[in-house]
Amino acid sequence: MVQSSGRGDYVWFDGKIVPQTEANVSLFTHALSYGSSVFEGERAYNGIVFKSTQHSQRLIDSAKILDFDVPFTAAELDAAKTALIAKNKTPDIYFRALAWRGDEALGVSAQNNKIHVALLALKWGNYFDAAQRMKGIKLDMAEYRRPDPMTAPSRAKAAGLYMICTISKHKAERKGYADALMLDWQGRVAECTGANVFFIKNGVVHTPIADCFLDGLTRQTVIEMLKKRGIKLEERRIMPDELESFEECFVTGSAAEIVPVSEIGSYNFVPGAISKTMIDDYTALTHGTATAQTSAA
Ligand code: PMP
Repeated sequence: MVQSSGRGDYVWFDGKIVPQTEANVSLFTHALSYGSSVFEGERAYNGIVFKSTQHSQRLIDSAKILDFDVPFTAAELDAAKTALIAKNKTPDIYFRALAWRGDEALGVSAQNNKIHVALLALKWGNYFDAAQRMKGIKLDMAEYRRPDPMTAPSRAKAAGLYMICTISKHKAERKGYADALMLDWQGRVAECTGANVFFIKNGVVHTPIADCFLDGLTRQTVIEMLKKRGIKLEERRIMPDELESFEECFVTGSAAEIVPVSEIGSYNFVPGAISKTMIDDYTALTHGTATAQTSAA
């Protein structure tokens, strides 16, 4: 797995570009104690952030769900990303956008804490090189489940929701797996710790309904690309005992992009034509080389 974590020399912090070594936060930050933080992960290809405005808007929407307002518009965040790409002189970059409650009051209530926003530039290569990608990754089954939307703000990309993801991913990695597949609170197949999941059987693509986990922008892009290709998609409830019947499986996310799966626990899959087509279409789309058939912006 290729995952370099070089950092861009500059970050954008509360409206200004500053050297990343000079951007610090207080130990009294509310987000550190209470998880009052939302974030985005997004990639720039050849200097252009894929679905930049949708990511900016999702950050704003996630904050709203956590009961705070991001003090910048989506257009201002988009412009900041463009400026940061130029300043760091890195056209292929992974952005981490963050919005969080500051350090004024350190209690559960933080009505008047300042809201901070930052954009971090990371020189992350692809998670997987091309050869490894088509071999497929192995997934463990996570013990934790995606929570009931009545018990957590499951539509937000909120830092607090990732506690169970990190624990699950660590456990999987220690057993030699790349990641873990999580069920939802009702025992249905949901998603991985940082990516959505798709299955293929008899030329039809199946994916769980995103009603208690993140409806990823890559997931939405894949759905658009499948439509353009005329490949049938069923968004539906998928129970774990059905995994045995699927032929192909792949996971999707802005960081991971599209990655085939070869194993989930005791079930095997063979990365095949539909996975390959989706990878190629996504590469064309993100690199601005999509043909009329594959453009799904
Ligand atoms: N689910 C989770 C839990 C994630 O962290 C991510 C990555 N943001 C996704 C799904 C995929 O979302 P996207 O395609 O928007 O990156």
